[in-house]
Amino acid sequence: MRWGVIGASQIAETVVSAIAALPGQQLVGVCSGSAARAAEFASQHGVAGSTTDMHELLAQPLDAVYIGSTNERHHAQTLAALDAGYHVMCEKPLAMTQPEAAEMVRRAGQRGKLLATNHHLRARPCHVRMRELIEQGAIGDVHGVQVSHAVFLRQSLQGWRIDNPGAGGGVVLDIMVHNADLLRYLLGREPRRIATFTQQFGMGKGKLEDGAMSVIEFDGGVLAQTHQSFVAANARTRLHVLGTRGTLYAVGSLSPAGDATLTLRDDAGDHEEASPTVNLYEVAMRAFVDACAGRGAPLADGADGAKSLAVALAALRSAESGRAETID
Ligand code: NDP
Repeated sequence: MRWGVIGASQIAETVVSAIAALPGQQLVGVCSGSAARAAEFASQHGVAGSTTDMHELLAQPLDAVYIGSTNERHHAQTLAALDAGYHVMCEKPLAMTQPEAAEMVRRAGQRGKLLATNHHLRARPCHVRMRELIEQGAIGDVHGVQVSHAVFLRQSLQGWRIDNPGAGGGVVLDIMVHNADLLRYLLGREPRRIATFTQQFGMGKGKLEDGAMSVIEFDGGVLAQTHQSFVAANARTRLHVLGTRGTLYAVGSLSPAGDATLTLRDDAGDHEEASPTVNLYEVAMRAFVDACAGRGAPLADGADGAKSLAVALAALRSAESGRAETID
């Protein structure tokens, strides 16, 4: 496929490398607000051209566009790429508001193009295995989930995430959307209500939160606790799914890099499950490329991105109101 890239960001570097690792992919051009950054990105990542004009990029013959810019730009850039006739892989959160996200999903349908959301955690083999085990009833009926997705935000990421609400900063829009999506994926259930407390613990500026804890109620009364933080030094991520007959413990599975372990604990004791290390972004991009060619579906589509955004926005409403909020 011929690709255009919008946004010369850090994650775009990773995603472009993942695209380049797949057979038959051609990186046609990159668009950035800065000509120098666009040119440097292009030369470092094997992208043929660079521009500061999105419409110039979209005027070239392409098949798909990857959008890796800051959050407030996703909506307009996605609509422009869809209107130009291209499939879109957009970063999370899909947009800043639910009407924007809904419009993006609708527009993809109107144009007959794929819209995917880069919820890369669905690519983790241990999460795929957890979903299978849950579906097979290996731990009985799931009643609760605990997610500790607390990280220390590395220096290079301590920009708009901690000081720019207009760009969609804050840990809820950054990390909670991934937790919300992963929970929907694992449980096969929809979230209905959420109660959230947020905190500022030295990193978030102005009103931007750098930590949040939520309780989410899913269909069927399943409760999930999620913790997302930017200020947790040396923490390992944890994902525990608790059932009426057993428990699944995943450690380290929420970090993009590094090893993860998965243990199933039931009446017979602990069983280590295989959890091979893969490049999550390569898996996600391969699924997208295949889906564009009519083979299968992207790991997470636009509607999935709209739903994870709805959870995060309800979390922010709850933190503000001090009450549980309905997830629309
Ligand atoms: P960055 O902070 O690296 O870049 C964001 C934007 O800032 C870029 O698009 C670029 O604008 C501008 N920029 C980049 N470098 C500089 C610089 N040196 N000086 C000034 N401006 C600069 O963003 P991230 O990569 O952290 O995040 C981008 C998007 O990807 C977000 O939506 C985020 O939520 C998402 N994300 C998703 C991940 C995932 O695993 N799915 C992981 C990380 C991020 P321009 O485009 O105009 O050049």
